Amino acid sequence: FVRTRGVCKSFHGRPVLKEADFRIGSGEIAVLIGKSGSGKSTLLRVIAGLEEPDAGDIDLAGQAVVRDGEYQEAWNELRGQVGMIFQSYTLWPHMNVLENLTIAPRLALGESKGQLLERAEQALTDVGMAHHLRSRCTQLSGGERQRVAIARALMMRPRLLLCDEITSALDPPVAAEVLGVLTKLKEEDGIACGIVTHDMAFASKAADRICFFEDGLIKEDVPPEQAFNDPQTPGLQAFIDAVR
Ligand code: ATP
Ligand code: MG
Repeated sequence: FVRTRGVCKSFHGRPVLKEADFRIGSGEIAVLIGKSGSGKSTLLRVIAGLEEPDAGDIDLAGQAVVRDGEYQEAWNELRGQVGMIFQSYTLWPHMNVLENLTIAPRLALGESKGQLLERAEQALTDVGMAHHLRSRCTQLSGGERQRVAIARALMMRPRLLLCDEITSALDPPVAAEVLGVLTKLKEEDGIACGIVTHDMAFASKAADRICFFEDGLIKEDVPPEQAFNDPQTPGLQAFIDAVR
């Protein structure tokens, strides 16, 4: 569903992405791993349009959205298909769950209140939070907030969901539940997921592919069995040994 070729990005003259080649198919979970500072977040942010690449190409849904580092016409039509979720809770604390879910689509899509309510109920059902429609966000647990954050992304009907360490602040069992929601979305709705996580149990179980970042490149892009049992590069070998 998304493919990057030769994507480069420097900050203050220091290259962070040097020719990143990356892809995620529909109904596929790609887990990005690599040392702190290796460029995982930067790549997701570039794909989400939050950071402009210096060079390279990006295709989304088979269309050219970035060519030679420049966003193309097609990006305006397709950007709504990309949702991104972050580690720190990005819900509006003064709004309840329903208001958090409907504020962006109300402004962007111009749908009626009834339609939006129905969509919000569906999105919350998808993440197992239907009973919290009118809850105040400040009263939710960390895991519940992240599930609401996923539901809020689903309101825009994304075909690609990018998740940057969304469970890092959660206890392992809660994290597993939140990440389980993503597996369900991939299986039931064919959503493509790009996930940065330190949860190797999830990565080995749920990932279709593990993408290992080092020095601004994707050094290995392999199924989890291979990444964990038979890494080909010294960098991935060292990373796996360190997290085991
Ligand atoms: P982590 O695992 O710690 O989240 P990461 O792999 O996600 O690391 P990035 O956040 O992509 O790494 O950052 C890669 C490098 O780019 C880091 O050295 C970071 O300091 C730098 N960087 C990222 N964003 C910016 C920015 N907006 N301005 C300047 N430097 C940045
Ligand atoms: Mg990061």
